[in-house]
Amino acid sequence: MKVTIIGAGVAGLTCAVELAERGVDVEVLERSAGLGESACSWQAGGMLAPWCERESAEPLVARLGQEAIGWWVDKFPGTVRNGTLVLAHGRDVAELNEFAARTDRFERIGRERIAELEPDLAERFNEALYFPTEAHLDPRAALAGLVSRLGARVRFGIDVTPSLIRELRAMGRTVVNCTGLAARDELADLRGVKGEMIVLRIHELSFKRPVRVLHARLPLYVVPRADGFFMVGATMLESDDPGRVSVRSVLELLTAVYALNPIFGEAEVVEIGSGVRPAFLDNLPRIRWRDGVLHLNGFFRHGFLLAPALARMTADVLLQDARFPEVMDEDHRERRRA
Ligand SMILES: Cc1cc2nc3c(=O)[nH]c(=O)nc-3n(C[C@H](O)[C@H](O)[C@H](O)COP(=O)(O)OP(=O)(O)OC[C@H]3O[C@@H](n4cnc5c(N)ncnc54)[C@H](O)[C@@H]3O)c2cc1C
Repeated sequence: MKVTIIGAGVAGLTCAVELAERGVDVEVLERSAGLGESACSWQAGGMLAPWCERESAEPLVARLGQEAIGWWVDKFPGTVRNGTLVLAHGRDVAELNEFAARTDRFERIGRERIAELEPDLAERFNEALYFPTEAHLDPRAALAGLVSRLGARVRFGIDVTPSLIRELRAMGRTVVNCTGLAARDELADLRGVKGEMIVLRIHELSFKRPVRVLHARLPLYVVPRADGFFMVGATMLESDDPGRVSVRSVLELLTAVYALNPIFGEAEVVEIGSGVRPAFLDNLPRIRWRDGVLHLNGFFRHGFLLAPALARMTADVLLQDARFPEVMDEDHRERRRA
């Protein structure tokens, strides 16, 4: 089988690696000149947090998300398995109880253990939830790692048009569309959920794991990266306008990170950015045939968490004609009709 994947975001690249490892002749065509230039995946936090995400996501997200950590550890050595720490300021401690009621696989910990896990948060919080089996990665380094595994099979600067898709299919190639929000013309029920984020740099602080701070209006997470970098995120706005980051969002994120530890006040603001998460109405991903092209889309806030499971399923659909009712809402006959 020969497969062409459109889009070098996390969906396209994980799928390509999965297919290549199963012996498929695979290529990835990406319209940007370089990795990440127009991919939502470039803006992600990189949290692999199936249990924390149960707070607001369907059980399917935790079930499929469990595959992610092993997959990333195997494919990207920079994957860090140090868990997640979930905190609330004293006045918001009810939020911690609500989070605990909706999630699973955590330990309730107090001041001493918080200080042991994250010395830079010592004496600042009385209680926390610690999810020891979760992980995180630097999305930009992880995507680059997948590209170097795939080598010349990834080609940049090719904007795939409908006529190119027809040509590829005429040449006997199966086409998999992983273009995120750009697939809206073909997938009418896809919508954008914008996320604004900030990258800070400070060497006087260090975290070993993502830290989430609960708040009814201004929830925050901080994901540590190498060399003193921290990704601070993220807003969730029903919008598909990627370019604009509002003063209000920046103020809220920076206020919340300063409240986490005022030493962040000395950090350098390295980047203010945003990405638009491709999402279906139920915020769950889908594998869907449309006009003879297989679409893999709708990763919402779970691209890094769910792409490995969906890549495995996509490979099984293509190579074994498998069916996955929980993520395939199309009749398989669609494929034959096309
Ligand atoms: C602020 C923020 C934080 C996030 N944090 C996390 C997190 O911690 N953990 C997690 O799991 N997820 C997170 N996410 C979600 C995750 O980033 C998305 O689910 C994921 O990026 C979607 O990936 P994708 O490959 O479907 O789309 P994209 O990354 O957008 O990739 C699509 C690619 O297709 C290319 N393309 C489009 N049209 C064409 C064409 N015609 N021809 C060729 N190429 C084309 C684009 O240029 C792009 O490179 C976060 C998202 C945001 C915005």
